[in-house]
Order: sequence, then structure tokens, then C-alpha cells
Amino acid sequence: MKILVCISSVPDTTTKITFADGNTKFNTAGVQYVINPYDEFGLSRAMQLKEKMGGTVTTVTVGRADTEPVIRKALAIGADDSVRIDADPVDSFQVASEIAAYAKDKAFDLIITGRESIDYNGGAVPGMLAELLGINSVSPCVKLEIEGNIATMQTMIDGGKEVVKSNLPVVAAAQKGMVDESELRIPNMRGIMAARTKPLAVVPGSASGNTAAKTFDLPAPKAACKMISADNVEELVHLLHTEAKVI
Ligand SMILES: Cc1cc2nc3c(=O)[nH]c(=O)nc-3n(C[C@H](O)[C@H](O)[C@H](O)COP(=O)(O)OP(=O)(O)OC[C@H]3O[C@@H](n4cnc5c(N)ncnc54)[C@H](O)[C@@H]3O)c2cc1C
Repeated sequence: MKILVCISSVPDTTTKITFADGNTKFNTAGVQYVINPYDEFGLSRAMQLKEKMGGTVTTVTVGRADTEPVIRKALAIGADDSVRIDADPVDSFQVASEIAAYAKDKAFDLIITGRESIDYNGGAVPGMLAELLGINSVSPCVKLEIEGNIATMQTMIDGGKEVVKSNLPVVAAAQKGMVDESELRIPNMRGIMAARTKPLAVVPGSASGNTAAKTFDLPAPKAACKMISADNVEELVHLLHTEAKVI
């Protein structure tokens, strides 16, 4: 089983987001980067599948050299080798095109992405990647089993779950459930040492982005909480009607 796991390097979830240059750029000063959490679920499942069925796990990241600490973390978790496509990620289609151009002649049996990146939250790369490769995709994928040439995947639908079968290769967009949180792989000291010498190939990017962010705005700060006495139902109803406008 030859597995490709797409790894996006994203700001730590506790980062306080600010913008620079007149709100035209994300302010990266002091920001700690991590593996996109959905990609961690995918990478952990890839490791389980490799242990069960044999094969290799390769990771791919579209990004500059500053993404390498995150890539090394994926190697420390257990990936066999990594590829960094040397380009600034500027939009979903460009990222999907770069990954597709790399993957198209490598005969991967399975491509795992996260269901969305937690920075730009497009949720668009998995479907675009599958389309560019002419293969099926399932997003979000909350269970993934492989038997022979068939992937059985569980996805979420309105009010329920759906089980989907597909021939390999397929793109599965991971979220919690593909593995449980308790099964997430954490790098140990041996893995960290091994990661230093595992192959990390850098290949040039070739796709050009079609969009560019003009400006960013933070959401309006939450209004202060208004406390109403428990026996003042009239006031509560009045405020829900006139201020919150929910009734
Ligand atoms: C410095 C910087 C500048 C940016 N500027 C812009 C901009 O001007 N305009 C704009 O629209 N966007 C911009 N982006 C966002 C960037 O284009 C997104 O990371 C990219 O478009 C991914 O799109 P998405 O949010 O749809 O990913 P999603 O579809 O939400 O991601 C789903 C999955 O796809 C995979 N994936 C996503 N990104 C990557 C990646 N880079 N490498 C490998 N796998 C990946 C991961 O597995 C991820 O879990 C910028 C990002 C950075 C870091």
C-alpha cells in the first residue's frame, strides 16, 4: 500500500490572529506552526494502515522552507519520506494542482488529506485534487478501511452517516473519527532522532495561483455579557426581542 498524506503547516490553534501591512497580510511574527489537526488524524490512520498492510507513507506539503519543522514532525510521527513542493500556497486550486502534478505518475494507492485547513478553511483541496487526478474523493471521511482494491469509507450526511465504497486510488479527507483522539500518534524521542535523517525532497512548484487576498478583517469583538435577574422574565423577553432579535 503506497500512501500519500497531504500535510498543511498552519498556525497553532492558540495563536492570536493579527494582520500586518494595512490588513493585507497575516502577521506571522511570533506564530508557532503545527501540522493541521485534521492532517494529524489522516497521518495517524496512514500509519495504522501501513502497520497492518505494509507499504510506505509519504507526506507532501506545498510551502517554503519555513514549513520544514512541521514536515520533520510528520517524519518523526512515522512517515517514511516527505516531499516539499517549493511554492507559496496562494489558493486552493494552485495547491491542489501542485499536489496533483507531483502525484500523477507516482501510483499512490491512497491519498489522505485533512477535510480542511484550519487557517484558510477552504475545504476545497481534497475535491479539486481528486478531480485533477480523475479519481474519487470522500469528505469528510470519518472511517477508512481498505480491503484489496476497495476503500470503505464512512462520511457524514445531514442527520446521519453514509458508507461509501470506492476503488483505489481514492482521496479521503480525514477528520476526527478516522482515528480517535486517543489514537493520534505523538513523536517519541526515537522518532525525532530518526526524522533528522529521513528523506525530505524539495521539488520546484509549477502551478500559478489565480487569486490573491486583498484585505482581511477580524470578526467584531463579542459584546459584553448582560446579566438579567432570574425572576425578570419580562426583561429577558424584551432584550431577546429588541437586542438579540432572536424572537
Ligand atoms: C503565506 C500564505 C499566504 C496565503 N495567501 C493566500 C491568498 O492570498 N489567497 C488565498 O486564497 N489563500 C491564501 N493562502 C491560503 C492558502 O492558499 C491555503 O493554504 C490553500 O489555498 C489551501 O486551501 P484551503 O484552505 O482550501 O485548504 P483546504 O482544502 O481547507 O485543506 C484541506 C486539506 O488539503 C491539504 N492541504 C491544504 N493546503 C496544503 C498545503 N499547502 N500543502 C499540502 N497540503 C495542503 C491538507 O491535507 C488540508 O487538510 C495563503 C497561505 C499562506 C500560508
